[in-house]
Amino acid sequence: MGMSDDFDVVVVGGGLGGLIAAAILGRAGRRVLLLEREDALGGRIRSFEIEGGYVVDAGAYLWPDAHFSEALERTGAEDFQVSEIPRERVLRLYAAGQDGHRLAFPFPARAASEKLLASVRIVLGLDRGQYEELIELWQRLASLSDGEVDALRGVSMSEALPSFTTSAAIAEAFGRNVMLYGTYDPTAASMAECIGLCRPVAGHRQAVPVVAGLNPVGGVRALVKALEKAVAHAGVETRLSSPVKSIDIAGGRVTGVSFESVGGLSRARASRVVSNLPPWQLFDIAPRESFTPDFVRDCARWSAVGGVIAAAYCFDGLPCLRETGKPDEFPGWTRVLTGSNLGFGGGLLWATHHSPRNAPAGRHILQAMRLSPHRDLVDDEKVCQVHADFDGLLDEIYLDASEKLVWSRQWKTDDGTEFMVSAAGRPPVCAPGIEGLYLVGETTDVPAVQMDAAALSAMRAADEILGRAQPRAQR
Ligand SMILES: Cc1cc2nc3c(=O)[nH]c(=O)nc-3n(C[C@H](O)[C@H](O)[C@H](O)COP(=O)(O)OP(=O)(O)OC[C@H]3O[C@@H](n4cnc5c(N)ncnc54)[C@H](O)[C@@H]3O)c2cc1C
Repeated sequence: MGMSDDFDVVVVGGGLGGLIAAAILGRAGRRVLLLEREDALGGRIRSFEIEGGYVVDAGAYLWPDAHFSEALERTGAEDFQVSEIPRERVLRLYAAGQDGHRLAFPFPARAASEKLLASVRIVLGLDRGQYEELIELWQRLASLSDGEVDALRGVSMSEALPSFTTSAAIAEAFGRNVMLYGTYDPTAASMAECIGLCRPVAGHRQAVPVVAGLNPVGGVRALVKALEKAVAHAGVETRLSSPVKSIDIAGGRVTGVSFESVGGLSRARASRVVSNLPPWQLFDIAPRESFTPDFVRDCARWSAVGGVIAAAYCFDGLPCLRETGKPDEFPGWTRVLTGSNLGFGGGLLWATHHSPRNAPAGRHILQAMRLSPHRDLVDDEKVCQVHADFDGLLDEIYLDASEKLVWSRQWKTDDGTEFMVSAAGRPPVCAPGIEGLYLVGETTDVPAVQMDAAALSAMRAADEILGRAQPRAQR
């Protein structure tokens, strides 16, 4: 490419949303340039390798698929295998100090078995009658109209709940219930997003929980590889280590981008730009004053991102649970609750239960992650404490963790975790006030969460560009 070139579409960022949008558009015959700042594609789906045939997935693991498989099919990506996890085996709970017992996850729709009621008593602090009240509350919220839910989008749970329950115990338990899905501050969560956790979206199939399955390479890295291939196959021109410095806008229309490359600053002309940047980074490359004030305000609210404090443990064979004396074969997440108030202490996931190639035969990788606000991530003492807590937990949960341990690794990332239920308004797929600018990714305003949201927003942006968008009333 010379100092300047023309494209139909420039995609800024090769995370999940960018890759999917680029591949769909390329396959539809558009001339697409994909620019990625890093020297590898995948964004927050990231994995690292450890000598001896190990892969540790340091980003996304397990995703709800209501739209994802459709999006993947539209990219033409082939051969990426997923394994589905039965809904009742997606999440269980481990409460520190309960002698190694695991507890049932109180999904609002779950039948009230003795096991579940025991968990409700310990974790939510409710008796059977109060639990029924909590379920009624969830049901009432799930039956609100789309308009009523939308009105609660920017409203936090603590502001909204008093209109739905007068009982402090039920309100507290509702917050704890939301916390168990994986947030450290449910009171600040968007009430609409909380409701979305249990509310089917009209016209969409219910999400199926999936993980990367038996692929030629281990872990979610296989997904990135499959998409990389699809993007190349679709004729997309991909440039790595090419950070975009500005999205150029004139007279309310996108005109192209300027980006850094080996030869210096280059320009690519295009009347359509798809940005895969998270909203708190968008204004680094696009002038704030080009956008509407509401949009700018909402994007600013996303800037308080947190991350994870994490560790991976490799075992020679699966360690046995203290509770049963048997190897831990649970395929989903084990949420961990710690401290006297059983606060959210993170979670444990056996990566090798889904993607056996994360480790050589007979070896297993257990990953531990604690969602953490930024203030914890920059506090070394706190980080050390969390890692030490994980080590202690393993001995509390398993009989023979120390004997079977082969190696362990620790890390932290600081690039976002609280998106699922954030109270910050999500930016729309079509950037308001700027013709030709589309936003894709986890934080975009589509009725889906996390990787599924990235996939759905990418399809919607591609459809807008290809002129195949559904009428707005149907969304
Ligand atoms: C630790 C962790 C665990 C997670 N676990 C799960 C999970 O279990 N399930 C789930 O569904 N989701 C999970 N997520 C969320 C999931 O990773 C994202 O939803 C998914 O990766 C989609 O990302 P995205 O499309 O928003 O793009 P991102 O991954 O944010 O990609 C953005 C891309 O843009 C690039 N970029 C940025 N600036 C520029 C620039 N100026 N020029 C060019 N390129 C640029 C970046 O390098 C990056 O590649 C997790 C996230 C994290 C961090």
